[in-house]
Amino acid sequence: MQKNKILILGSLGLDSIQTPFGKRKNILGGSATHAAISASYFTTPIIISVVGEDFPEEHIRLFKKNKIDIKNLQRKKGKTFAWEARYGHNPNEREVLATYENVLKDYLPSLLPEHQKIKYVFLANNSPASQIILLDQLKSAEFIIWDTMSFWIDKYADQILKILPRIDIALFNDSEAMHFSKEINLVKAGRKILSHGVRKGVVIKKGEHGSFLFTHSFTMHLPAYPIEEVKDPTGAGDSFAGGFIGFLAKTGKVNDKSLKKAMAYGTIMASLTVEEFGADRFKKLEKKDIRKRFLELKEIIGF
Ligand code: AMP
Repeated sequence: MQKNKILILGSLGLDSIQTPFGKRKNILGGSATHAAISASYFTTPIIISVVGEDFPEEHIRLFKKNKIDIKNLQRKKGKTFAWEARYGHNPNEREVLATYENVLKDYLPSLLPEHQKIKYVFLANNSPASQIILLDQLKSAEFIIWDTMSFWIDKYADQILKILPRIDIALFNDSEAMHFSKEINLVKAGRKILSHGVRKGVVIKKGEHGSFLFTHSFTMHLPAYPIEEVKDPTGAGDSFAGGFIGFLAKTGKVNDKSLKKAMAYGTIMASLTVEEFGADRFKKLEKKDIRKRFLELKEIIGF
């Protein structure tokens, strides 16, 4: 059986991160990066993005090693998207120190004909304008998941409201869900976002406190896989999304049962990312490590 590929629109960036475990400057980051590397353990991801002249070749080699399709990765004159963040002892709280859009500013994706027919799509963190342009080019999409950040909610909440009825699953972290819905209770926030027309469900991630899935027919709550040392929480949300859609695209079935299992795979991929800085954990990750953690999580929630 041929696995479904996944189209991923998002940022490829150079991140500078400070956590209680250390500091890293200009390491590989970006929403599409984390999502694609995570999804690559399930099926073939296709990255739709842009980088500048300063984007190191070694990162391109990592994408190729993970069999990520980068045919539609543009290289433009100028600097790559860059982002700086600091975390304290609570990994759920981060302070964004700077966002430099650089070549990502005004980037509007243009799909190759072969990519217009992809059925599984992840609109990762990127400008809502670019997400709408991509949605307009899709010819056979069957399952679309979507993510955003406060950076975009602040400026473009009206465009986000237009996107929600065109997607199947919306992903938020707790603070973004509260920010967007103007609700302080996450159950109310999830249901309110669902009521804006999202076709299947809303996922709200709470870092080390687990995640919710609110659908039109059921609610699910999963704990996080317990990790002793969260070295760098960056990319947890994107890796969650990569595992979530990766599992669904691989099996080719989206129903209540598979959505619940996808939540577990998302949880596992997020738990792996945070164990090292940037995407470093994936440099030595094997499929059997994912399976092992999946079974452990099942054991943890069983009673
Ligand atoms: P996460 O920790 O999963 O929320 O995602 C963090 C990643 O998103 C980092 O690697 C950043 O490079 C990237 N990122 C941060 N801000 C933005 C933004 N405004 N647009 C697109 N990507 C971003």
